[in-house]
Amino acid sequence: MCARRLVEGGARVAVLEARERVGGRLHTGTLAGAAIDRGGQWMSVGQPRLRALAEELGVASFPQRRAGIAVIDEPGAAGRLAQLGAAWATWRATRRITALMRDPPDDDGPLDAWLARTIPHPAARARIAMHAELVFAAEPAELTVRAYLERLAVTGRFAPVGPELPGGGREHRFAGGAQALALRLAEGLDVQLGVQVRAVAELAARHVVLAVPPRAARAIAADLAPEARRFLDGARTGAVVKCFAAYDRAFWRDAGLSGEVYAPSGLVRAVVDASPPGDGAILLAFVVGAAARAWGSRDPAERRAHVLAELARFLGEPAAHPIDYAEADWSAEGCVYLATSPSWRPAHGTVHIAGTESAVAWPGYMEGAIEAGERAAGEVLRELTGR
Ligand SMILES: Cc1cc2nc3c(=O)[nH]c(=O)nc-3n(C[C@H](O)[C@H](O)[C@H](O)COP(=O)(O)OP(=O)(O)OC[C@H]3O[C@@H](n4cnc5c(N)ncnc54)[C@H](O)[C@@H]3O)c2cc1C
Repeated sequence: MCARRLVEGGARVAVLEARERVGGRLHTGTLAGAAIDRGGQWMSVGQPRLRALAEELGVASFPQRRAGIAVIDEPGAAGRLAQLGAAWATWRATRRITALMRDPPDDDGPLDAWLARTIPHPAARARIAMHAELVFAAEPAELTVRAYLERLAVTGRFAPVGPELPGGGREHRFAGGAQALALRLAEGLDVQLGVQVRAVAELAARHVVLAVPPRAARAIAADLAPEARRFLDGARTGAVVKCFAAYDRAFWRDAGLSGEVYAPSGLVRAVVDASPPGDGAILLAFVVGAAARAWGSRDPAERRAHVLAELARFLGEPAAHPIDYAEADWSAEGCVYLATSPSWRPAHGTVHIAGTESAVAWPGYMEGAIEAGERAAGEVLRELTGR
């Protein structure tokens, strides 16, 4: 994004990309002949920059399929009365959190203890904790109260309950997968693949933009301000594995189910319908936090069996028999940052900072990456043109 805006502004730009592909955390694969987003996937109505970019690049989007009943897997809340009690307590907790996130308390204590103190209803507490786990791909014990509330405040409306997710970042997907955005952006740019930058001093350029995640920036020798270096040194990440199962037909729709599942406990925290538009039937299960971190140490066949058993429990026995299956494990790379900081934004002389973690709004999302790229391009162009 940054390179595109710089070129438009008249600058000469080289993009140095460590991988052999563009896209970074956007990575589209295929399963049973359909596109699947191994990394970033959704666009929300609250993300004007992403919508505008998709239009600019001619990348079509389509609504996330949600028709039907969502399953909330809560063993403790069987029965209508218990369900109503949980919904009421969740609503109250949500209201409280929404009020607090406008003015987050100066609380660096762990989120799990805070939830235990402030939400007495166990099912409501579990739902709020589940929502936090899905947003951060981490356990509430790993999060601070402040980082949690701040992130909610800059990522649209707070929506902790599965079926009520409008504004929560999941309304639209991109035709052919989200990586199409990066591929289109790269067209017409000088992108050098397979070039891992180790030191800024080695680069022959008047300005350098670090458009990389904090952990990658930490590994690059650059003259950064001490506050920025402190943020990088302390940056912690969540872990997520996306597990895709393709079927010959969308059997869950026969039963009136949307394919959407929310499970506060167990291996799989959420499931969504990740089918392509039109024909095709794909379910996507999210494994997050500690279970995602342990993924690589488990036997692949056993992992697959475990995920499929959970899908079958939620959505019916046919889920156990996919025609194809794939996983995208982001736990080693650490893709979701548990906290961001205003110190990871200002330029350090001629070294500028981009990347989604340096965004003001929607850090951690595509929207934030666009904002940060455009802001960094503006900084450089102002200095180059002296305006
Ligand atoms: C599983 C998953 C699900 C997600 N879901 C969503 C979603 O639904 N909606 C949404 O908006 N966002 C989602 N995201 C987040 C979204 O993908 C990211 O916020 C966005 O892609 C970040 O873009 P970026 O350019 O800031 O960083 P990146 O995409 O990480 O790009 C950084 C690039 O820098 C390269 N690099 C790193 N170090 C070096 C080096 N030393 N030298 C050269 N190159 C280097 C990397 O290879 C990479 O290509 C998701 C992410 C993941 C992983």
